[in-house]
Amino acid sequence: MMKKVYGVMGDPIEHSLSPVMHNAAFEELGLNAIYLAFRVTRDDVGDAIRGAKCLGFAGLNVTIPLKEKALEFVVPDALANRIGAINTIDFGSGTPRGYNTDGIGALTVLKEAVGELRGKKVLILGAGGAARAIAFYLDSEGSILTIANRNVERAEQLAHALRNADSIGMDELAQRIKDVDILINATPVGMYPREDETLVDAGLMHPDLVVFDIVYNPMETKLLKEAKKAGVRTTIGGLKMLVYQGAASFRIWTGMEPPLEKMETAVRAALSVQP
Ligand code: NAP
Repeated sequence: MMKKVYGVMGDPIEHSLSPVMHNAAFEELGLNAIYLAFRVTRDDVGDAIRGAKCLGFAGLNVTIPLKEKALEFVVPDALANRIGAINTIDFGSGTPRGYNTDGIGALTVLKEAVGELRGKKVLILGAGGAARAIAFYLDSEGSILTIANRNVERAEQLAHALRNADSIGMDELAQRIKDVDILINATPVGMYPREDETLVDAGLMHPDLVVFDIVYNPMETKLLKEAKKAGVRTTIGGLKMLVYQGAASFRIWTGMEPPLEKMETAVRAALSVQP
């Protein structure tokens, strides 16, 4: 039987940990499959998806900055359509089908750390692809959301699309953080190589706040260091979300239960030698 080909496309892509993570899963389960990284520009997304289909690819992940554009070239499921972005394409049926697993990845992490999310006040920094995916999931869980974004219009648009949300500008953060239960950074601020940056300092945080940074490189971001300085008891990095969103893609592609521990170990090992 021919080897099944999977991959991730984005730009830049050389630091992606998805190949290491999925290849570890294929190896553990003894699957005759390989996962590669492809640098694709925004202008070439449609051609890349058509090409992958013609070449008989089994599945693709889609990452920055292609998640929204790629939606135009697939049949998205209802949730990906609402989110307006995809991170997973399945070619299994012959038609490229689009999904977004970022939200379920984040939700799984938060439920493990916090438990019930209904009624929790959550402040999300960012209104891009990942922020939107997380916001739709938390909204369905019954959380009360505030969206803070540099571009306030994008924050307003996202808040309007949700059931129970409002939006603020970054200048209102200090006032709002006092009242929230969970703070989520869904921007690239603090990501390698600008790991000295954070949108929120220790002075604004309280010990009962849960701080979740979806950035995973470095594993402990400046935001999480500030949280520890402020005595925050529950801090969460982006690594588990990476594993859970990848696991959800894996289930869509293979119908099999992925080896989560192997995937996490592979990612940790790669991160410890990377930048
Ligand atoms: P995106 O669609 O490009 O959105 C980026 C968001 O960050 C926008 O809201 C943007 O604000 C904001 N932003 C960018 N630079 C900023 C700055 N200097 N100051 C303040 N806000 C800034 O990107 P994305 O796909 O949502 O990804 C965001 C981050 O999440 C990336 O670092 C990505 O690696 C990470 N991520 C992690 C996982 C995981 O599994 N752990 C999954 C997905 C994404 P404007 O609207 O004002 O431009």
